[in-house]
Amino acid sequence: MKPAQFEYHAPTSTLEAVTLLKNHVDEAKVIAGGQSLVPMLALRIARFEHLIDLNRIEELRGIRLEGDTLVVGALTRQSSAEHSELVARHVPLLHRALPKIGHFQIRNRGTIGGSIAHADPASELPCVALCLGATMTLVGPNGSRTVDASDFFISIWQSSAEPDEILSHVAFPVATGTSGFAIEEFALRAGDFAIAGVSCAVTLDSDRRVARASIAFMGMGPTPLRAHEAESALVGTRADAVDCAATARLAVEATTPGDDVHASAAYRTRIAASLAATALRRALEEADNA
Ligand SMILES: Cc1cc2nc3c(=O)[nH]c(=O)nc-3n(C[C@H](O)[C@H](O)[C@H](O)COP(=O)(O)OP(=O)(O)OC[C@H]3O[C@@H](n4cnc5c(N)ncnc54)[C@H](O)[C@@H]3O)c2cc1C
Repeated sequence: MKPAQFEYHAPTSTLEAVTLLKNHVDEAKVIAGGQSLVPMLALRIARFEHLIDLNRIEELRGIRLEGDTLVVGALTRQSSAEHSELVARHVPLLHRALPKIGHFQIRNRGTIGGSIAHADPASELPCVALCLGATMTLVGPNGSRTVDASDFFISIWQSSAEPDEILSHVAFPVATGTSGFAIEEFALRAGDFAIAGVSCAVTLDSDRRVARASIAFMGMGPTPLRAHEAESALVGTRADAVDCAATARLAVEATTPGDDVHASAAYRTRIAASLAATALRRALEEADNA
């Protein structure tokens, strides 16, 4: 099928894009890499009178270090971030997650902001953003505001961004101290969305005990999900004494997977527990060896 007719707009500044959105709010959608939106338009799952193309807005691109955060412009291609030295050095979890997204052709067009704004619970980047406690900056007609990842993802394909707001950049906390990170997922074929996945971040104190832990699941509910109870249980435990399998079993209790054509909820839960145990062990080992 082909998309229904729409009017195409190509603004060159965020302000111009926001003004266009405000003027056509109920009938307009922004497009970035088009890797999720174009299939939805072509299949007529979505239909808009106005399409606002962000690709000419230079200020939405780029990766820069700002104090203790790495700021990634929403329009930065997933492939640019994947090959960025800054990302590899300062946000290792993001660096490891990016190659897991689809195929390289998709990452060449798909953007960091597009993936996060799309809020697909099975996607890697929302899961990483939640795991690391990233913050999203939204720009709308009344200025800009910052939203924590924990408040950003509302439901399937639904974020807390208002219809007249644009995601301008995402700030990821940089890795410091004795930290370890891991992301594990299971997909039926290389390049497919994961049936289930998990990312882990741990920081140890000077006694090699867990000072901070974060476990976030993808594909295990209507949004990416943090396993707060399991995270709290880890704090204070020596890295080499953590029972990863038991912690992973506790962690999956925080999830609410559904049945679909790809897998049952029970299967997802079993897989997610196994992935979480592996990811936790890898993150702890990395932190312990740092
Ligand atoms: C075959 C295939 C396999 C894929 N596999 C995976 C996978 O394994 N894992 C994965 O995570 N993704 C996967 N994807 C999706 C891919 O990562 C998309 O690039 C991503 O979901 C959307 O990014 P985009 O830049 O293409 O956004 P678009 O498709 O242009 O937009 C997606 C949505 O986000 C909104 N949006 C985009 N940018 C902004 C912004 N700056 N501010 C506000 N709203 C915005 C749009 O209005 C739209 O609603 C796959 C896609 C395909 C086609």
